[in-house]
Amino acid sequence: MTHHRVRIAPSPTGPLHIGTARTALFNYLYARHTGGTYVLRLEDTDQARSSIEFERDILDGLHWLGLGWDEGPEVAGEAARGPFAPYRQMLRLPLYAEAAERLLAADAAYPCYCTPEELSADRAAQEAARLPPRYVGRCAGLTTEERAARSADGRAGALRFRVGKGVVAFDDVVRGRVEFDVANLGGDFVIVRGDGSPLYHFTVVVDDAAMEITDVIRGEDHLSNTPKHILLFRALGHPEPRFAHLPLILNPDRTKMSKRKSQTAVSDYIEEGFVREALVNYLALLGWATGTEEEVLSIDEIVERFELDQVHKGGAVFDRGRLEWLNGQWIRRLDPDDLVDRLRPFVAAELAAGRIDWMPPDDELRSLLPVIGERLPTLGAIGDLVGFLWVRDLVIEPALLVPKRWDAVTTKQGLASARLVIAETGPVSFEAEELEPPLRALAEEHAWKVGDLFMAIRVAVTGRTATPPLFDTLVALGLERTLERLDRAIAALEGGVER
Ligand code: GLU
Ligand code: ZN
Repeated sequence: MTHHRVRIAPSPTGPLHIGTARTALFNYLYARHTGGTYVLRLEDTDQARSSIEFERDILDGLHWLGLGWDEGPEVAGEAARGPFAPYRQMLRLPLYAEAAERLLAADAAYPCYCTPEELSADRAAQEAARLPPRYVGRCAGLTTEERAARSADGRAGALRFRVGKGVVAFDDVVRGRVEFDVANLGGDFVIVRGDGSPLYHFTVVVDDAAMEITDVIRGEDHLSNTPKHILLFRALGHPEPRFAHLPLILNPDRTKMSKRKSQTAVSDYIEEGFVREALVNYLALLGWATGTEEEVLSIDEIVERFELDQVHKGGAVFDRGRLEWLNGQWIRRLDPDDLVDRLRPFVAAELAAGRIDWMPPDDELRSLLPVIGERLPTLGAIGDLVGFLWVRDLVIEPALLVPKRWDAVTTKQGLASARLVIAETGPVSFEAEELEPPLRALAEEHAWKVGDLFMAIRVAVTGRTATPPLFDTLVALGLERTLERLDRAIAALEGGVER
């Protein structure tokens, strides 16, 4: 049986993207399902666009998601671990230089001395003739003397790989048989720049070969790169891995997921209060189906069921509503103490932003869970939902206090009589079941619609029209503060209401 070795190879040229996280997850699932090895390699050769901050964001995001790798940087508290270290391409430059040397010696690659001017003139001519851009092969057949002559001015050549002729075919685990005519690859391509820096197509193959990767699982946007990679594997004398190209993730309008139309950075989802269990669960469903009605699955359950050959090839639309639904499901499944721990930073953020006046103790948060658990699409929604509990002086727009079918006088009367009822019932038992019947009776007695009375009370004590159930809210607020807020609301109505 093969020991499968897979890898995620992020380029730190942007924050961790939903698509990269999905690819990381599928590699993780495949490795765990087959008992294989999961490698992380940082592809940081694009020095102009790479940054240490992006690298941090990517590693932190993947750690946060719980997708630990077996080999790579930052494993089990070590800076790097694994037999093929280093796992950062900028530390592997000698390996690429050595492989380039071999390809040059075998004449599988050749130096190209074309100037930028020559190359852009080629491109312009091809454009004018309505031909796709390709390298014309100016340097493909230079003799040793000609090479010496062209590099006489001290200009080092770039290294181009000979693509040759024919068809490259492979069996993609997801897409089935795929064939590319080499004639459409754009001609011999550069693998090492004139300044000696190696390029992506080359480094990815040298490393996948060196790290003994057996299965390359990556996004469909890399499908068209695969024939180039296969040719390079062959030229380097290395068996090619199996390829599995995961379907594109799409915006709701079915275009390729983009920052402009969707939220693509994983850190933004973390900041909003999506929990890792939900995000992992959701990412797994982007291209794979559980095969049953059950959609809410833990990562271990997904590992157990995951099969790479069941991945769909059609694009997967990113559906934020479904993610929020899953998030709600997972929030409700969390252990209460764990949930309190995860909510705390979001409450602290409300405090830091000045939207609440104090931090509720853990006990208070825990006692609220039965009431708010059902109503939290994200952890970050806690402030909007119950932030009014931790505000000293609630400021209410008087007009908001008056229900649609009521006027200010009725509202004042309604609140004042509700206050009397609550002041009477409350000290005996301040429980939702005890408060509701006398307030319903009050509405009946005055021929008020219950909804209007309850809405006036709700706004008076919370400042908003949508809250958790009214009586649970009053209980959470406590008798004293409920009465005090009713008093303030009544006083606010004294001045009359303009609307
Ligand atoms: N560094 C490449 C990327 O981030 C890796 C592509 C691959 O998996 O081969 O897109
Ligand atoms: Zn050339």
